[in-house]
Amino acid sequence: EGPIPIPDLDPSKLTITLTKSPKAIPAPETLIFGGVMSDHMLVASFDPVSGWSAPEIKPYGPFTLDPASSCFQYATNTFEGMKAYIGPDGAPRLFRPAKNMARLARSAERLALPKFIGRQPFNPDALLELIKKLVVIDQRWIPNIEGYSLYIRPTIIGTRSALGVSASDHALLYVILSPTGPYFRTGPKPISLLAAAENVRAWPGGTGSHKVAGNYAPGFLPQRIAAKQGYDQILWLLRDENEWKVTEAGAMNVFVVVDREDGDFDLITPPLDGTILPGVTRDSILAIAKAHTTGKLTLPGLSPTRCLHPHERAFAISDLDRWLSEGKLREMFAVGTAAVVAPVGRVGFQDDLKKLARDLVLPSYEAGMGPVSRGVRQMIVDIQEGKFEWDGWC
Ligand code: PMP
Repeated sequence: EGPIPIPDLDPSKLTITLTKSPKAIPAPETLIFGGVMSDHMLVASFDPVSGWSAPEIKPYGPFTLDPASSCFQYATNTFEGMKAYIGPDGAPRLFRPAKNMARLARSAERLALPKFIGRQPFNPDALLELIKKLVVIDQRWIPNIEGYSLYIRPTIIGTRSALGVSASDHALLYVILSPTGPYFRTGPKPISLLAAAENVRAWPGGTGSHKVAGNYAPGFLPQRIAAKQGYDQILWLLRDENEWKVTEAGAMNVFVVVDREDGDFDLITPPLDGTILPGVTRDSILAIAKAHTTGKLTLPGLSPTRCLHPHERAFAISDLDRWLSEGKLREMFAVGTAAVVAPVGRVGFQDDLKKLARDLVLPSYEAGMGPVSRGVRQMIVDIQEGKFEWDGWC
């Protein structure tokens, strides 16, 4: 391939227009996830003739878009979710942000959003540099309180304004910021999951491993049905032969902790087989569990001799049921950027194969979560907030 004929995303061309009317920052205890946006946003657009425009940081505000835009008609929309934290030195920190940039580029490719021939849809390093500039400009929006952070939502939408059912050759990239508090305000409380047999989130060959907007809207109705029955989230399953494989919980990855014969724990999460979003939290928990077991770090509250054996291995509802009846299932938890770790207290299961409809009840713990959930959660939060430095993650 020859030289790139049109410009890539270029941080050196950034223009910055600061707001003349900075907003009042809401009291931290009133924050609802994603409810309030900061003062500024980052915007750049792509068209097939001029490539990426000079990026702009400007006051947060609405866009004007053609009603025929691809994003409105064909869901050519992809997004990311990441957070900025204030470190002990008062400076903002990002947690493994290159992973989010890489995932966004992969999702954009999956939607056939415009890209340079033989290259990625945008330069991930350039976008990260721009996001860092935006976060520094809106740094006052990061509550300097433990458990609080600034949620970052990079988004790319297709803006081709024609109704033909085909890839969008125009795109708009933007990044918005929202201050956010802890998922559990009054300490961890186990969540309940309704295992859904009739609705499937993702399937082999589908887009489950990409963070595309089209994966989310179809989950809202099942979620509403689960809520009506008194469950917090859906446990997404995938039928495999005569089994119901566990895939994800709501918009989170899942882990189980199972006793082993030798007194250690198996820490099991479903494999990245194309139906699972490769979560940054998931990957981080697998890595720190391994580091605990190889003695490179010790998870808070866990004995260094109590090893965690991480596995990326499929398991089914019937395995949960069997482990429970054998007394081996210690903990189950859901993980993601928003909650970090959410303990699971019960799983409602309606099985059209075996005509079983009941709740699987997980062991309960005085502190609201078991020692493994608590240990990995504390370690991730300590790394995010800069109380512990690990492997260049921040
Ligand atoms: N699964 C789905 C479907 C999600 O939307 C998310 C949130 N991005 C996750 C898992 C967790 O991923 P992460 O740890 O990167 O936030």
